[in-house]
Amino acid sequence: MNGALPAPAGFREAVVDLGAIAANTGALLALARERGLRELIAVVKAEAYGHGMEPVARTVLASGASGLGVADVGEALALRAAGIEAPVICWLHGEDTDFAPAVAAGIDLAVSSARQLFRVLAAGAATGATPRVQLKLDTGLSRNGVPAEDWDAVFGAVAAAVQDGRARLTGVFSHLANASEESDESAARALNEGIARLRALGAEPGSTHLAATGALMSRPGWGMSAARVGIGLYGLTPFAPQEGPVAGLRPAMTLRATVAAVRRVPKGTGVSYDHSYRTSRETTLALVPLGYADGVPRAASDVAPVRIGERLHRIAGRVAMDQFVVDVGDAPVRVGEEVVLFGDPAAGAPSADEWAAACGTIGYEIVTRIGPRVPRRYLQP
Ligand SMILES: *Cc1c(COP(=O)(O)O)cnc(C)c1O
Repeated sequence: MNGALPAPAGFREAVVDLGAIAANTGALLALARERGLRELIAVVKAEAYGHGMEPVARTVLASGASGLGVADVGEALALRAAGIEAPVICWLHGEDTDFAPAVAAGIDLAVSSARQLFRVLAAGAATGATPRVQLKLDTGLSRNGVPAEDWDAVFGAVAAAVQDGRARLTGVFSHLANASEESDESAARALNEGIARLRALGAEPGSTHLAATGALMSRPGWGMSAARVGIGLYGLTPFAPQEGPVAGLRPAMTLRATVAAVRRVPKGTGVSYDHSYRTSRETTLALVPLGYADGVPRAASDVAPVRIGERLHRIAGRVAMDQFVVDVGDAPVRVGEEVVLFGDPAAGAPSADEWAAACGTIGYEIVTRIGPRVPRRYLQP
């Protein structure tokens, strides 16, 4: 059932199947091409959603992604420090972010305001390198991105900087709210209008991108040149987890541990903090050495599924900082036996999306929060 995975190396670990990430990259690139999009920007922010930024970056680039996306300059520079030379874009900056190292490293800096643009241009003047600038436009998410009322001023400043060689405009993009088909369509119209206005000012937009995983799967290409996808690379759904898995994608992360202790207890035994769980009969309790310090949500208490041997069980009682308990009934569970919290449903494991549904969150949060105490082990493609 779990034959593809080697025996557990430690008593807790996250196994990351880079073969699944390679296959998911290929599937998303094929879908992008069907939509008329030529390129895939692979989003590897937040340690590649908990999977490990560097190995994932190498895998997606070897599998057809043309560039990488991260949130901030620190993440972008970490990719360069790892020797990755592909295009890298980052889009979230602090008031005092030092852009000079990023300009010198050839990072694509997405700017969301005139102030950010001027600070990037100043970093270019100081370093002697030409900044690679992308414009991030707000088209209805009301989060990051240049707000519509500032487009004229920012477009004018960008066009002037491009014309006198102080910057290269390498892209124009926006991010969707996924609130409804109408809101996505209106965002696409707004972005296309912004692109047309830049062209009218003589500024060629470079790469244009709007869709993340959700819109790549459910919307047209809108005439853009690229999709900018994260969650699909990791094999999880961009939609509500209750809607089930996305066909054609394989979850890449398996979170597992080995049973640390087993004990037989009588009916009526209270289990873990607050005794939120009490045994309904004589039964066996198995102790699992993973807790909320490792990213197992406390909201998984009493609800999330785990697989031990061939059987599915539920967490019994509160998830603690380092451990939780499973009531396995009369199943012959032994110390040292494998416990799979989530992984590939095709291998019989609960999925991270099932965990998300049980915990009232999304699969993104389940995998991204797996903590540094959990070693990552990589299965090569
Ligand atoms: C995180 C992020 C993405 C990736 O979204 P997915 O839903 O994971 O595909 C794309 N663009 C931006 C701006 C993001 O912040």
